[in-house]
This record gives sequence, C-alpha cells and structure tokens, in this order.
Amino acid sequence: MPEQPLTNVIEFDPEDEYRPEPEPEPAPPNWMDGSMRIGIHTSIAGGHLNALESAHKLGCNALQIFSTNPRMWAGGPSRVTEVDGAAFRARRAALGLGPLVIHANYLINLAAQQPMLRTRSIQAFHDELVRGIALGADFVVVHPGACGDCRPDQAARLAVESVKQAAKNLPPTSLRILLENTAGMGTALGARLEELGEVLHALRNLQVGACIDTAHLFAAGYDIKSEAGLASTLELIDRAIDLECVPVFHINDSKIPLGGRVDRHEHIGKGKIGQEAFRRFLTHPRLSSAAPEGLIGRAFLAETPIDDPGDDRRNVAALWEFAGLKDQAPEAAKGFSMLTAAAKKKVAQQVKSQKSASQARDRKMRATVAAADRGGRSSRPPRKSPAKPAKRKKG
Ligand SMILES: [Zn+2]
Ligand SMILES: [Zn+2]
Repeated sequence: MPEQPLTNVIEFDPEDEYRPEPEPEPAPPNWMDGSMRIGIHTSIAGGHLNALESAHKLGCNALQIFSTNPRMWAGGPSRVTEVDGAAFRARRAALGLGPLVIHANYLINLAAQQPMLRTRSIQAFHDELVRGIALGADFVVVHPGACGDCRPDQAARLAVESVKQAAKNLPPTSLRILLENTAGMGTALGARLEELGEVLHALRNLQVGACIDTAHLFAAGYDIKSEAGLASTLELIDRAIDLECVPVFHINDSKIPLGGRVDRHEHIGKGKIGQEAFRRFLTHPRLSSAAPEGLIGRAFLAETPIDDPGDDRRNVAALWEFAGLKDQAPEAAKGFSMLTAAAKKKVAQQVKSQKSASQARDRKMRATVAAADRGGRSSRPPRKSPAKPAKRKKG
C-alpha cells in the first residue's frame, strides 16, 4: 500500500467545515390566516380542557383563560404536567382556537413596594409564564401593578424590574407577555397610555406588548364612544405604544361613565360605550386582524359578566355581529352557556345566605351599640384632642 502524504490528512478543505443547518423559520400557526379572531374568557372549572370545549360551543375562534384560581396565591398545582399540557395543546389545535391568552392572577402586584409582596408577585408571575408555555399559550396578560404610597415613576421602574426577573430562566418559547391598560382605580398604574408606553419601552428587549381593554380606556377618560374620540385615542395608542404591539384587545362595555376611573364591565353594547361605538371599533381598518392596515391574528376577547344563562353566548354573537361577520362566525352550540340555570340558582342562594349572615351581624352590632348607649357609654373610643395627645399607660 503506498504511503499517503501527510499533507493530505491535515490539509483544510473549507467544504469540510461543519455548518449547522439554519434553524427553519417556524411556520405561522393555522389561526394566523388573516381571519378575525373573536372569543371570550372561559372557565377552567373541572380542568383546562373544559375551557376549550366552552369556547368552541360559544362560537369563538379564540379564547382567554386563567391558568389557575385567579384570587388565590396557591390556586391548585403550580405546574401543568407534560401529559395534561400535550392533551390540551392537541385539543386546541383540533378545534382551531387561537390565539390562546392567559390572564394572570389578580393578586400579583409587580409594582409592590413591600419586598415580600413583590417577591411573591414575581414568583407567581414566573409560574404563570411556565404554565403558559406548558399549555402552549400565545400571550400572558398582566396588569402593571399598583403604586400604593410610592411615586408612579418609581412604581413603574419596580414593575419593569419585576417583569424582567419573572421572565428569567424560561425555556425557549414564543409566548409573549402583554401589559394591560387599567381603569385607574385607586393607585393602579397604566391608566395613562403614555405611562403604559414608557413601561413597554423599558421592556422592549423582552418584546413585551400591550393588551388594551375598551372598558378601561373609557373609565380612564378616553372617549372611544365618539368617532373623533376613537380616532384620537387610536392615534395616541399608535404614538405611545404602537398598534403593531397590541395583538389583543379586551372588548368590554362599561357600567361606568367616561372618566369614572372604576373597573366595571357591562355586556357588549348595553353599557356607557354602546353598540354604535363597538361597530365602529370592530370594523376599524387599523384594528383589523388582517394585513395591510391591521395585524394578522389580532384577537378581540370579551370579559363580560354572565348574569343569566346564555349571556356569554350572546356577547360572543354580538362581537361577530358588530364586526359585520355574522355569516363567518363559527356556529355556537344551541342553548350552551357556562352558566346553567341550576348553577345560577346555587350562586343566588349562596349570595342570599351570605347577605342574611351579614345582616344578622349588623343587627347584633346595632344592638350592642344601643345597649352601650343606654348604659351611658359610647362604644367608640374617646376622641383624642390633637393638642393634648392621650397618654397611654404602659403595661
Ligand atoms: Zn381586561
Ligand atoms: Zn376590567
């Protein structure tokens, strides 16, 4: 065998260089086909899968859920198992629902000054993101937080840091965080669109977007009821936030008049915003779910009350109707509602028994006060004079 020259072995051929295959561009999900995406917040009672079935039966092609009990810190298991996640993702794909939006727990305050509450909020929000990824959600919506005693600009900085911390150490994902505008109740951040825009700007590396709620806009003083008011509000959203960064709108009517700064949702078209304004909103070219003026896959989700069985179905139908797409709406299951007549009765009974318990407490309290007054004593502590502070005995 002839000896091979050594040079052949060590000679470098650029063709031999290892080049990894370029990452394939992920194909856009089926629901991003330029069709209007309409849905409602659906209940996960009995399991996450139930929310998908409800959305489907209500005539939705998109939905919002809570990933766990929204009013408890530990509302059930903090993780979604791989088996449950896979079953959920498969069923959602089969039903063609998208986007899937998760609304974060209401107790989370990312702007909390109090270190314990802030740590807890960051952890809870991190868990929301982890569950969102497991369920294959597209967006997690969270409120920017409340500032309490501190200045709004300080609170906004805290909120930014909290979001950054909560988003650390996540597996690679297409899940996006959306911050929601607020009605401005109490010391809530994010009622002013410029303020929300500043927080989003500080989080641009994380591609955080916005979810805009119509009831919150109206209660915060943005007159989306009038044509001119809608135009100027959309202009402001575009300037402060960029409409391209608003993939989700919460479509709620408001029980509260313009600028009332209280968050109370009403059925679509039945509140202070009204039918005409929702027609204008849902057919506005800049807000469409299609190119070139709109944003492909943009969703309009109701978070309306269910006072009577069928209110949920009727609100979804109203969204399709006001969008002018009644004919294209997925068919709802006849008579389906997340609230059944039996469940309504049960809730009414619970409210009644709570009421009578609190009335009994009030009666007892009034009787005690009256008895104390008859005895010549007041049930209230003696009034302190500001000039002479009452001395307290140490004991
Ligand atoms: Zn909302
Ligand atoms: Zn609200």
